[in-house]
Amino acid sequence: MSFSPLVNELIETLRVLPGVGRKSAQRMALYLLERNRVGGNRLSDVLARAMSGIGYCRDCRSLSETEVCPLCRDLRRDDTMLCVVGSPADVHAVEQTGFKGLYFVLKGNLSPLDGLGPEAIGIPDLWARILRGSFTEIIIATSPTVEGDATAHYIAQMLVPKGITITRLANGVPLGGELDAIDGGTLAHALNGRKPMSL
Ligand code: ZN
Repeated sequence: MSFSPLVNELIETLRVLPGVGRKSAQRMALYLLERNRVGGNRLSDVLARAMSGIGYCRDCRSLSETEVCPLCRDLRRDDTMLCVVGSPADVHAVEQTGFKGLYFVLKGNLSPLDGLGPEAIGIPDLWARILRGSFTEIIIATSPTVEGDATAHYIAQMLVPKGITITRLANGVPLGGELDAIDGGTLAHALNGRKPMSL
């Protein structure tokens, strides 16, 4: 079956989404064109506004359309605790546990083989954030993978001269798992049972 050039372009463009192949993209495009133009228009409007309006919070580096995100601006948060995570989705996961401190979002984990060094994942920004703050505990909640552990270790060593307590999520987080895939109860347990990192 062949489509007009613009229909084809829409199908090809929808394939930028993760996990969407040609078949699914075609189904989505035809659904929007034939059955839900209102939804399609809304999608295109919100997508355009989100892509141009959403940047990164100056303090936590999570996604935000304001210079400092609402969470970092919230004066009721405990500004002595900083939880370091690997993605904005992990902030959402840790929030579900009732954690009341502040966050810093790295861009993934150190992965020298992929060319991802400290600068690429935002370690200099983390360091600057810690120097600006008055944290007494840094909770390193990078994923329990080889890269996540290496990243946690790197950060912990960097912080030794600061004399801040550095903790890591307790066991219970499945090895090799991602934080946002863990159920809230297990994550809360791992957070409450966090232990000082041994170097
Ligand atoms: Zn923020």
